[in-house]
Amino acid sequence: MEILVAQYAGFCFGVKRALEMAKSALKDNQEIASLGPLIHNPQVVARLEREGLRVVDSLQEVACGRLLIRSHGSPPEVYAAATAVGLEIVDATCPFVARAQRAAAELQRDGYGLVVVGDRDHAEARGILAHAGGSGYIVEHPDEVAELELPWRVGLVAQTTQRLDRFQAVVSAVLERVEELRACNTICRATSQRQESAVRLAEQVDVMIVVGGYNSANTSRLAELCRDTGTATYHVETAREVSPTWVADVERVGVTAGASTPQDAIDAVCVRLRDLEEASDGPMGK
Ligand code: SF4
Repeated sequence: MEILVAQYAGFCFGVKRALEMAKSALKDNQEIASLGPLIHNPQVVARLEREGLRVVDSLQEVACGRLLIRSHGSPPEVYAAATAVGLEIVDATCPFVARAQRAAAELQRDGYGLVVVGDRDHAEARGILAHAGGSGYIVEHPDEVAELELPWRVGLVAQTTQRLDRFQAVVSAVLERVEELRACNTICRATSQRQESAVRLAEQVDVMIVVGGYNSANTSRLAELCRDTGTATYHVETAREVSPTWVADVERVGVTAGASTPQDAIDAVCVRLRDLEEASDGPMGK
């Protein structure tokens, strides 16, 4: 069985940067907390918690010390509230997320009604909207556009991990309803590289394994894109979840991983696939 790993898979620049900032902050003995998990990978977050990072659900739980802002950013109110109670801010917002926040704020300032193409419940999409004053819409699918009350001119930005085809479809749907449209493609390069290489690989293999947190939007999107190619696709968080039945009788397996998946999780999946092959005594299932 041939195991092929996507050209671009695993940790992106923004996640690596956030982890480095967290690790360097943990070297001091001062308390440090993140509002929600630092990245969408439970195994990595558990490791950081063992090293001393507190993961909290609300600012009220942080009495003193430092607040680590995650790579997908926070609304301006969080900065203001943290500063007001004397917390020091360690800002790990990815520069590409910050660019999307700025683009949204500029569109709002220039008088455009704002549409953010993203996941309605995702902190990054909500944060982008909040940086533009909070008014506007988060749209997940082009079909939702018909229901929106849109002004005559609209500005669009994307959550950085969106699919380009979905962003384009929302742009077209909005364009039919407004006189003026300004679309800023704020999908980050790391996301498009991971999506393009996942699809290229999915088209060449019998089965795709996508590794990453179940709560990771960009990992779920990779799995969705691979499935769209017609190739059997499985999303796993850990190597142990890879079932022997998925790869029985297959010749080529592709592996890819979301931007919040560490290299060791990708390696573990490859080792697991090799072990399954050896256990079946030769090419899988033969
Ligand atoms: S996926 Fe892109 S925007 Fe998000 S953290 Fe990684 S590099 Fe930054």
